[in-house]
Amino acid sequence: MTTVLERPVSPASRATPPPAPASMNPNAMLGAIVAGAVATLGLWWFDTPSISGFGDVLTNAGRITGLLAGYGVVVLVALMARIPPVERGLGADRLARWHSFGGRYSVSLIVAHALLITWGYAVTGHTNVVHQTKTLNLSYPDVLMATVAGLLFVGIGIVSARAARRRMRYETWYYLHFYTYLAIALAFSHQFSTGADFIDNRPARVAWAALYATVGAAILWYRFITPVRQALRHQLRIVAVHSEAPGIVSVLVGGRHLDELRAESGQFFRWRFLTRELWWASNPYSLSAPPSVHLLRITVKTFGEHSGALAALQPGTRLVAEGPYGAMVAAKRTQRKVLLVAGGVGVTPLRALFQTLPAAPGDLTLLYRASREADVVFRHELESLAASRGARLHIVVGRRTEFGVDPLDARTLQANIPDLAAHDVFVCGPAGLTDTTVRALRTARVPRRQIHVESFEF
Ligand SMILES: Cc1cc2nc3c(=O)[nH]c(=O)nc-3n(C[C@H](O)[C@H](O)[C@H](O)COP(=O)(O)OP(=O)(O)OC[C@H]3O[C@@H](n4cnc5c(N)ncnc54)[C@H](O)[C@@H]3O)c2cc1C
Repeated sequence: MTTVLERPVSPASRATPPPAPASMNPNAMLGAIVAGAVATLGLWWFDTPSISGFGDVLTNAGRITGLLAGYGVVVLVALMARIPPVERGLGADRLARWHSFGGRYSVSLIVAHALLITWGYAVTGHTNVVHQTKTLNLSYPDVLMATVAGLLFVGIGIVSARAARRRMRYETWYYLHFYTYLAIALAFSHQFSTGADFIDNRPARVAWAALYATVGAAILWYRFITPVRQALRHQLRIVAVHSEAPGIVSVLVGGRHLDELRAESGQFFRWRFLTRELWWASNPYSLSAPPSVHLLRITVKTFGEHSGALAALQPGTRLVAEGPYGAMVAAKRTQRKVLLVAGGVGVTPLRALFQTLPAAPGDLTLLYRASREADVVFRHELESLAASRGARLHIVVGRRTEFGVDPLDARTLQANIPDLAAHDVFVCGPAGLTDTTVRALRTARVPRRQIHVESFEF
């Protein structure tokens, strides 16, 4: 069944020029990461006058993969250090994609490094690989610790694979990633004690240690100290919890000086509710209403233990909110016209943007997909916002199989949204919906830079 609600354009609200886009060019960031990798390779290049024999070829390939792996893991954790300009400039969604892509490469480099070095040493020393593995681990300084670290990295890589992650609770996945820090610490010293590119090169050791120390300090500051400082400053507490639809609740959170958080519509926090059952878990939920000086609101659908426990939270419960994060904000917009595409509970950040994005009557459209009528949240709020702002609202309810066409395919979108390619499009929902919507938008010739995505997949 399809329900389409379209609000007439009202002349009520006035246009405000769009703010300048948030600054951080993903290509510039990627360029900086690649430049760092090239500089890392320079260490090997300048330290290797010649290569002779098969054993030497293998050993040098092992050195190169080792250097790149050492650089790769530090970049990976830097991307997840929650550094505000990076989070805001690139967006949590893109950072997570880079992190997962880079993670696969780094784990492959680590495995290749271990195999190549062992094989290379075995060939040069005229011994077999098993004997060489034993010698390396038992006689070379810090190599055993590095082997344990390598196994940890492989384990983390396996549990991060999409198929395994889907069967895992958010908290399990989240805390397993902390072993990355342990693995990096275990692997660090073998780089200096056995790494040919560092042993006799003091400036390289200093620069490498400075890189690790800087990233370590950023992680300590932004991931651990900042949340505690924010908790003490803002004294967050639950004000109310109420049901929006079956299995969906809104939590209203009050606190002090919330304007200092500089949160915006479209962003999310990681929420840690300080009850006996939930204090150890910190899950991401988007603001479902524009933040005010005294109040924040989130709206959560029950998927598992954490989201399911929120309905029972009592007013007065203390909590810690880590953030704000996310780049799906008004400043990303480049065009006068804006389309918001929400899938299921992915409507939450778009509900907030629907209220605050500057737009003239007729320039703002929200397309909201839900499988069942019971899953539609904020219907009343959305309708009254649409009426007061002269915005268009399409709520499309039903399963894909019930429609003759996919309501989010390129042709249907073009038919329903005149001038589609002249819109900025903000998309939020489950990963499947965001992927298909982005493909449809590209088919409909919406430029990539005008598409802003956040998937609720972690
Ligand atoms: C940036 C971001 C913003 C988010 N904002 C919101 C929000 O505003 N409102 C909201 O309700 N949720 C939001 N989410 C999703 C929410 O964080 C997770 O659903 C929640 O943390 C899952 O924890 P849990 O303990 O309840 O379930 P878990 O025990 O971790 O998961 C139970 C099962 O449900 C699956 N699952 C979990 N989350 C999802 C999901 N989002 N989609 C499909 N399957 C899922 C898991 O794979 C697992 O099989 C957001 C996620 C991200 C990354």
